[in-house]
Amino acid sequence: MPESIVIVGAGQAASQAADTLRRKGFSGTITLVGEEPWLPYQRPPLSKKYLAGTLERERLLLRPAQFYATHRIEVLLGRRVEEIVRREQRVRLDDGSMLPYDALLIATGCRPRPLGVPGAQLHGVHCLRNIADVERIRAALSPGTRLVIVGGGYIGLELAATARALGVEVTVLELAERVMNRVVCNSVSAFYQAEHLAHGVRIVCNAKVRALEGTAGKVTAVLTEDGTSYPADVVVAGVGVLPAVELASAAGLECDNGVRVDERCRTSDPLIFAAGDCANHPSAHYGRRLRLESVDNAIEQATSAALNMLGIDTVHDKVPWFWSDQYDLKLIIVGISQGHDSVVLRGDPESRAFSACYLRDGELLAIDTINRAQDHMAARKLIAARAHPD
Ligand code: NAP
Repeated sequence: MPESIVIVGAGQAASQAADTLRRKGFSGTITLVGEEPWLPYQRPPLSKKYLAGTLERERLLLRPAQFYATHRIEVLLGRRVEEIVRREQRVRLDDGSMLPYDALLIATGCRPRPLGVPGAQLHGVHCLRNIADVERIRAALSPGTRLVIVGGGYIGLELAATARALGVEVTVLELAERVMNRVVCNSVSAFYQAEHLAHGVRIVCNAKVRALEGTAGKVTAVLTEDGTSYPADVVVAGVGVLPAVELASAAGLECDNGVRVDERCRTSDPLIFAAGDCANHPSAHYGRRLRLESVDNAIEQATSAALNMLGIDTVHDKVPWFWSDQYDLKLIIVGISQGHDSVVLRGDPESRAFSACYLRDGELLAIDTINRAQDHMAARKLIAARAHPD
């Protein structure tokens, strides 16, 4: 049994692991180290209620400050782990101090993918990942502001919906031929595009950004490869995220699209585990490795990692799920649709309540439900059971 556990990161997975360790009776020391100045908080409201100003910052916290005190969980905030010194079983912090561990959890999450075009450093260009980003974006938005969003994924579309409610003029530039192209089928993309259009959002697909233009250091327009210039007061890039693997990689742990872990959330060092957005795990259900960026995965995988740290043998193999709220539409995705050979719609998109079922050789792999919670509950069971529904 370990006596001291260090958790690198202070997000959803980190907080969940600490909670699970105490619930399962672990009485040794637990230390979380987080770069941001806040206790572990929920990210999903950032692009929605927190940006809209309808949720207080304190309400973002996953657990109240009292929780960490009561359960003797030390949280070092505004601090970085600079190095994992495996041979000494210690981590080195940014002030040079060392923290010993018997077991270590890497829960470092992801960072926004940089836009990587000229002008990306101009004032008025943002990404949206943490509280500080959202506070900067919120301060820059008011009715009539021209906001250009690069990327029609979750961040881009949720931000578009929130910004429209604030009276902002919104243009979304998406690289692919349709929005959310990696996660949903054509019908669902088309439905969301039409909804955004109806709310006054301009969506431009097949739009490759060439450069951001500016005057006096401040962004004024987004220029695309076809020569079109989109005037902008504010630009937000939501072009995906990259797993934060630098520490793990420098420590010689196997990394490949994230920190590679086995089915028990262990890295290539048996004393070190990884969970959440940064971890790449083998999925027995889908027969391949997955790196999942979701709250559900952070919670489930961190729970599995914590149990294994305590010697409670737990194979991690869950069917993942995701959600996105845009306007009054509740999208819930269960499973991973990649590799499907047919899509069956249940319900009519015109009714604004329908589902898309993804099948391969008749097996239900995944489902997207829009305002149809009953389908998602049923599908969860069917997908887990590898059912071949009619
Ligand atoms: P995302 O969902 O991966 O979407 C990024 C989108 O940007 C993709 O459609 C991508 O197209 C497009 N893109 C990439 N490079 C581009 C470029 N240079 N110009 C224009 N478009 C470009 O990532 P995200 O929206 O940035 O979200 C970041 C993270 O937050 C993800 O982990 C996401 O899961 C999470 N998040 C989740 C939710 C939710 O679950 N409701 C909400 C907000 C954020 P290609 O696919 O063709 O590359």
